[in-house]
Amino acid sequence: MDTNYLQVALKNDTVIKDLCEVFNIRKDKNGYKAEFIDLRTGQKSTVSAPKMIIAAGGLNTLKLLFKARKNKVDGLPLLSERVGYKWSTNGDRAGFYWTWHKNLDHNYGTCLFKMQEIASEKYEWDYHMFACRMGILGKPEWSPLSMVFNHLMPFLALTREEPIGRLYEDSKARLKMYYPAQQGHLKAMIMERRIAMEVDALGRGIDPKEKERKMARWSKFRPFIGITTVHPSGGAAIAEDIKDGVVDYKGEVFNYPGLFISDSSILPVATFCGPHFTIAALSDYISRGIIAREKG
Ligand SMILES: Cc1cc2nc3c(=O)[nH]c(=O)nc-3n(C[C@H](O)[C@H](O)[C@H](O)COP(=O)(O)OP(=O)(O)OC[C@H]3O[C@@H](n4cnc5c(N)ncnc54)[C@H](O)[C@@H]3O)c2cc1C
Repeated sequence: MDTNYLQVALKNDTVIKDLCEVFNIRKDKNGYKAEFIDLRTGQKSTVSAPKMIIAAGGLNTLKLLFKARKNKVDGLPLLSERVGYKWSTNGDRAGFYWTWHKNLDHNYGTCLFKMQEIASEKYEWDYHMFACRMGILGKPEWSPLSMVFNHLMPFLALTREEPIGRLYEDSKARLKMYYPAQQGHLKAMIMERRIAMEVDALGRGIDPKEKERKMARWSKFRPFIGITTVHPSGGAAIAEDIKDGVVDYKGEVFNYPGLFISDSSILPVATFCGPHFTIAALSDYISRGIIAREKG
């Protein structure tokens, strides 16, 4: 973002207000108004424009939408009923596994160093699985915990899952989530253990029968319900009409012409791999569309 877009924007006289947090979006005679607070000084201010793009990310955009929808006076009460729906963790699952391999050096190399990409034909499901280095967690060269770290292998799995989660506001306006455990979590967990076992095998060798037995035992586990995700997506999904989502294919909010959303919240399905490029490409497409229509 910094090198590709913001620098160009700055060269074209864009004003960037860093450390300013928007806490309200309202309708006004000019179009839309954002109220924000400067986190350095505590001073509140507003900015108003005929066109506005909300891009506060997968959770904060939704917080702003929920708040604006409740405001029946000058808020956005006609926002879709589907705000918060089609939310997904991208099937992410993080975990740590103990391996008997004696020399897991987490201080060198790329942070995501082993990737397994499993095709559905073979295993009946798709996912990406990364083994991570603890270096990304800031582990020192040596610490009293080295003994433990040198045997711990972190994993991150991205699984294909249906976007059937939902974000909603509780009575105290806190963001809550409903996310039914899905098969993907169980499969990711089994796979994490399988890779941990293979890392182990490098150190001490594992009997194929023992491998079989372990795999059979893990298959019977209940899926772990807890959520860890670095890829939240959806909640203000692109749809054909307001009954099904919050924005149209142009990123424009249903019932609110000139108001756009451009971040991970508009993805109607999870991307399954890292969503960063998809979000950037979609944002590029949305902004080019706005400019093209503006020019007529
Ligand atoms: C540790 C980690 C590792 C990741 N690794 C990868 C990877 O390898 N590959 C990949 O594809 N994806 C990766 N991701 C995911 C990727 O970073 C996100 O999917 C992506 O950045 C989401 O883009 P976004 O525009 O929706 O939101 P963001 O990038 O979160 O942008 C939202 C912006 O809005 C600002 N903001 C929020 N609320 C307000 C407010 N109220 N007022 C003003 N500004 C506000 C935020 O400060 C932020 O700058 C990773 C994420 C994490 C956390």
